[in-house]
Amino acid sequence: MDVDGIAKASGSGDLFLAGEWRAAADGRTYGVTDPATGAVIREVSAAGPRDSAEAVDVAAEALDGWRTTSRRRRSEILHDMHAAMRDHADALARLITLENGKAYRDAKAEVFYAAEFFRWFAEEAVRIGSSFGDAPAGGFRHLVRKQAVGVTAFVTPWNFPAAMATRKIAPALAAGCTVILKPAPDTPLTALAVAGLLKEVGLPDGVCSVLPTDRAAEVADVWFRDDRVRKFSFTGSTATGRILLRQAAEHVVNVTMELGGNAPFIVCPDADIDSAVRGAMDAKMRGGGEVCIAANRFYVHEDVADEFTAKFGAAMASVRIGPGLAEGTELGPMINEAAVAKIWGLVDDAITKGAKVAAQGPTPDGPGWYFPATVLTDVPEDAELLRTEVFGPVAPILTYRDENEMLKRANDAEHGLASYVYSGSLERALRIGDRLDAGMVGLNRGLISDPAAPFGGVKQSGLGREGGREGIDAFLETKYIAVDWP
Ligand code: ADP
Repeated sequence: MDVDGIAKASGSGDLFLAGEWRAAADGRTYGVTDPATGAVIREVSAAGPRDSAEAVDVAAEALDGWRTTSRRRRSEILHDMHAAMRDHADALARLITLENGKAYRDAKAEVFYAAEFFRWFAEEAVRIGSSFGDAPAGGFRHLVRKQAVGVTAFVTPWNFPAAMATRKIAPALAAGCTVILKPAPDTPLTALAVAGLLKEVGLPDGVCSVLPTDRAAEVADVWFRDDRVRKFSFTGSTATGRILLRQAAEHVVNVTMELGGNAPFIVCPDADIDSAVRGAMDAKMRGGGEVCIAANRFYVHEDVADEFTAKFGAAMASVRIGPGLAEGTELGPMINEAAVAKIWGLVDDAITKGAKVAAQGPTPDGPGWYFPATVLTDVPEDAELLRTEVFGPVAPILTYRDENEMLKRANDAEHGLASYVYSGSLERALRIGDRLDAGMVGLNRGLISDPAAPFGGVKQSGLGREGGREGIDAFLETKYIAVDWP
């Protein structure tokens, strides 16, 4: 299937509800744009409260059938979905690049990463455990069962249009839950294509609905008023996460929150600098830096700062920027005009306060929301850039002499998602890793995401974990049954 085929599978931009492609109940649509040109790619149906309410009805009706479907059958559907996404990897990657802007090679990597959640959770679906034991006082026994939480609702961001959806959908389906997904307004087409493929591999109607919209709050509001929605999983900014947490409190809904990050990238004096530079490029530049685990602050030991800055600066300045679908592009456009303005604001603030531009790549002429790869040095501690997730290809380099003092600065952040440490000594790297306030640490590694590992943050980076053994637990309730059996 090519992009047109996928477009057909994604219902020409209609809502995917009750296993059908449908216009919004009130007929509203909105335009999805290509960040490389600013042009509208497709008009998409915009779900409203009525569609959202219907999606809850549909998910509630489908729940019994799905949670009683054998684990083996659920697992087979997930395995088939993994294969289907890989079979359509080129078309899906083109769709991601079209609506998100990221370089095609990043989009292709995303498709494989996204597909892998289906394989991992297909394997987990058949291993959901129960236990049976004796009460210590005797006289009865404990049966502990794991059961699907029920109807689940998701809100996802635009930076990984496929993977942020599948990271939630796959474990939910594995656990026996039914799903309603509201993708980001900027990138609904990939999520719709994922829904189309789920239908193709035999997921029963109503088990997974996808509601694109440009009126997120109205759609989500419906879920928080309906007691049948028992789980809410969100990936996005900390500011929006706070609002949604408050809403979830109303019906004490089980939540998973994957929120913002502000990852430190630490280069120790004994690090292999070439390897640290490669890791820095991975950690900073994947997806154009529009990644919540992207390295946001580089703490480099004084003894190696000149060498690291020179080599990393050269690598950043030579990054090939252009339309994501153009041959050889490494850095595509940012998601939209507001994103570019926000990054310039942070860079200008840092420069006004004394930062220097150590290296900068080119910006293409013509249309598109581009931001050049940029390395800053002499960044003062009061620069907004160090407190705010930049979400772009900008790397501020800070130096340090004393490890304890550096750790204090690295941990002085409201977020605690990812972090990175480069050192020639495993003992030192583990010591620093242990003391970092972060849910994830890359030791001599710039790429850490893996569907088989638990992804998530501490502090204001969120609640809960996705992926790994923990990922499915988020969709299971524990039921304890006391059995009168001496
Ligand atoms: P960003 O700044 O990247 O757009 P957001 O956290 O605002 O980050 O958006 C992430 C997702 O949250 C998107 O799908 C967006 O539509 C959705 N969203 C934003 N505000 C709300 C809200 N009040 N209720 C439900 N979803 C929301």
